[in-house]
Amino acid sequence: MGKQEAFVLRALEERDVRFVRLWFTDVLGSLKSVAIAPAELEGAFAEGIGFDGSAIEGFARVHEADMLAKPDPSTFQILPWRGETPATARMFCDIHMPDGTPSYADPRHVLKRALKKAADAGFTYYTHPEIEFFLFKGKPGPGGRPVPVDDSGYFDHTAQGGGQDFRREVITMLENMGISVEFSHHEGGPGQQEIDLRYADALSMADNIMTFRTVVREVALGADKWASFMPKPFTEHPGSGMHTHVSLFEGDENAFYEAGAEYQLSSTGRAFIAGVLHHTAEITAVTNQWVNSYKRLAGGGEAPNYVCWGHNNRSALIRVPMYKPHKSGSARIEHRGIDAACNPYLAFALLLAAGLKGIENGYELPPEAEDDVWSLSERERKAMGIAPLPRNLDEAIRTMETSDLVAETLGEHVFDFFLRNKRAEWQDYRSQVTQFEIDRLMPIV
Ligand code: GLN
Ligand code: MG
Ligand code: MG
Ligand code: MG
Repeated sequence: MGKQEAFVLRALEERDVRFVRLWFTDVLGSLKSVAIAPAELEGAFAEGIGFDGSAIEGFARVHEADMLAKPDPSTFQILPWRGETPATARMFCDIHMPDGTPSYADPRHVLKRALKKAADAGFTYYTHPEIEFFLFKGKPGPGGRPVPVDDSGYFDHTAQGGGQDFRREVITMLENMGISVEFSHHEGGPGQQEIDLRYADALSMADNIMTFRTVVREVALGADKWASFMPKPFTEHPGSGMHTHVSLFEGDENAFYEAGAEYQLSSTGRAFIAGVLHHTAEITAVTNQWVNSYKRLAGGGEAPNYVCWGHNNRSALIRVPMYKPHKSGSARIEHRGIDAACNPYLAFALLLAAGLKGIENGYELPPEAEDDVWSLSERERKAMGIAPLPRNLDEAIRTMETSDLVAETLGEHVFDFFLRNKRAEWQDYRSQVTQFEIDRLMPIV
């Protein structure tokens, strides 16, 4: 048994842990959990806990259903919302096949494989997300409309409505679980919140995002409220994105930083952006995976809609944030397209793969967009070579289908499952008759 496993077994006794939850994530980004008794844990570390993979979205076909969840001891944490004693703990798991090989369907494995590729090229990959979501008075029933907890807006200090207390409770719990928070504030929509996590390596961050969503939902439920990461719950208000800041390190050095370069951005950083821009349409079905995601991208509210980059240009898909002179050696880029309802393991893996492609092949970075690209005409954008993002899930799927980069990074199994699942979602959606059509057509035809 390794040191970390031994540490966990000791912690179980010291903290009086009665239940250990084993967490993993399905292909669409939903958290799965199985609770085991502490006595089972030694076996779980050695061999994993068996479960039926055919019942999990995207995991296995029925004839190859047996899978093993093997806890990663470095992710051991007590769940603060379950009380102190007896305590409940959790660990994230890696999924294995019965023969001990990693499961090709495990999103955590997909990200690990991508990180290995980066490591082979000498890079470690860090991310930090700004996570937006809405807080509602309660869970809307079928056909009901969600009611936000307040009517406030961007950076408002709200005395009533509970957004502040809510954020404080979420942040306290996250910090108790070893997840550091940098900023939090009210976002632009009524009841809309934002919490920004401090940067971490991409695997820890993907785990942290899964934890974050769980904590937010738990705290909301504890206060008789309902939290949702749905990308665009209201036609008339901004949607919820998950701006993601990324950087690559070579050893202790930020590979995106170059003193004296434009925006302090190194040629590696420029090539990374070029890679992401070049492949962005191919990966959009994953970074924005729901029919509803495209309502956010089409609906203004500062969500990007065109493939371009800029410096302090909030209409650009990729932004090189302000250079802070006191932070010499630091450089990062911000991807503003991703939404908070994605599978973070898959989204981070694809973002990395696209950027690395740019570095490997020395892609040339197109000129930056200096104007507000939303205010340009179609023709002006065309002349500048600025293409739109996929306009709906159907377009995104069709672009992804043709992508070698996405097939290679996700692996054949996840790639096929994802496409099949998303085609079905689009098919269900496209036959829906909406209120919009009724309101518009009834009076005139
Ligand atoms: N909510 C906006 C989006 O959907 C972002 C707003 C902001 O953070 N400036 O991307
Ligand atoms: Mg922000
Ligand atoms: Mg924001
Ligand atoms: Mg931002």
